[in-house]
Amino acid sequence: MTTVTVNTPRAFAACESCYAAGRLVGVWVDAVDAADITPAQIHVDSGVDFTAEGCEEFVCMDTDGLPTTGEPSLEEAARWGEIHAEVGDDRWPALCAWVRSGAYITEGDSDFPSLSDFEEVYAGNWESFREYAEDLADDIGLLDGMPDHLQGYFDWEAWTRDLAFDHVIEPDGHGGKFILRSL
Ligand SMILES: [Zn+2]
Repeated sequence: MTTVTVNTPRAFAACESCYAAGRLVGVWVDAVDAADITPAQIHVDSGVDFTAEGCEEFVCMDTDGLPTTGEPSLEEAARWGEIHAEVGDDRWPALCAWVRSGAYITEGDSDFPSLSDFEEVYAGNWESFREYAEDLADDIGLLDGMPDHLQGYFDWEAWTRDLAFDHVIEPDGHGGKFILRSL
């Protein structure tokens, strides 16, 4: 069985000695495989005799679909690939948005996000923060006990504004928002 993924992070693994010799030799791989790439895979189609050239050092020269900027090591790219697999392709964009916000919780001393904390704080993908706020108000019974004829006077704007201070709100790239609680 294969699972269709659309957000799989990728890494461009390249050969350092070839690069030093003025040749860009490398391949795009799923990030999760980046640390296990072999000389044969890297040099496929390059025509380089990598055994004779002594090609042993490989580096990550580009990435796609990672929440970080700059080039990670191949090991770091592979860790991101594992995180993608753990959190799932559907939730990966939300996790990336959380990391890019800078307001995310890290795993131990690393810069990688804590997935248990992500699961705890992720409140979903919404059209707007207001939509989320109204749904939350329903859930917690915010206006329960307030007479119906007074509910129209409730200051939604002020309440939503205050609520937003306790949340990380990031664009989802499709006009909506990823919403995460701040701990
Ligand atoms: Zn090489």
